[in-house]
Amino acid sequence: MSFIIGFNQNTVKEAETNPPLTDNAVRKNKPQKSLVRVYFEDRDFSCSYYNDKFALKVGDIVFVEGKMENLRGRVVAVSYGFKIKLSDYKRVIALADTEVHGKMYMTRNFFLSFDRNILPYSKVSTWYAPPLKEDDEIISGEDDSTYPLSEDMKELKATHQAYNRGVDYYLDGNVKFIELDGENGRAIVEGGRGYIVEFQYKNGEVSKLKCDCYCVGICKHIVATLIQLKEILKSVEEKYTDIYKESGYFSGINKATLLSTVTMQREQGEITL
Ligand SMILES: [Zn+2]
Repeated sequence: MSFIIGFNQNTVKEAETNPPLTDNAVRKNKPQKSLVRVYFEDRDFSCSYYNDKFALKVGDIVFVEGKMENLRGRVVAVSYGFKIKLSDYKRVIALADTEVHGKMYMTRNFFLSFDRNILPYSKVSTWYAPPLKEDDEIISGEDDSTYPLSEDMKELKATHQAYNRGVDYYLDGNVKFIELDGENGRAIVEGGRGYIVEFQYKNGEVSKLKCDCYCVGICKHIVATLIQLKEILKSVEEKYTDIYKESGYFSGINKATLLSTVTMQREQGEITL
């Protein structure tokens, strides 16, 4: 039997008896016990995991327990017919929320949204790390230094190495996400894992710089974030002043990251450009 592309009687029949689920429908589905193969790009390694928390499908971004904890994985196969000894398997513990809907505006490397609901930090952060565990304790300190968002960031007094690597991170597109809500900003910078940079921005100056990496002082993630912030603010000022004034908010996502994350393995849906 030969198949042709398009509608014929067979495909229509099949669609009637087994309607294709939209992504929304899949999300609303009850979790279904499955054995899934997860690929970890950073390690070029894949392994099988047991899942009973989510309705997983190929292409989903997940986090697991065990040795690959905190590493982002991609589901590459799902099996429902299986029989395993549970103690032999680690589990899938988190599923990234990659549902993105809404109007976005372009800058050179980023898509921007000025609506808090389209692509907030709370959504994008699920692409880069599992939720905190109950016994995780987060501590932060305050530094009152304020720095102008200048051309060469000299005032930051980053080490030569941190500055140069930060510039490389910026040029290589490692700053994946930036959000500025009023004065409060957050960014996600990829480098082994997703590092979270926090800052405040007001009248051309940044302060309260923090990064959750192991470096002491101004690190490459902060340098990269501030260069990217400067570039985005320039675009916003030149092209999107009115809409930004209205919302007092923007979030920006690296163009390639958005497309690869939300369209990977999707066989259904629309995109308008
Ligand atoms: Zn850092």
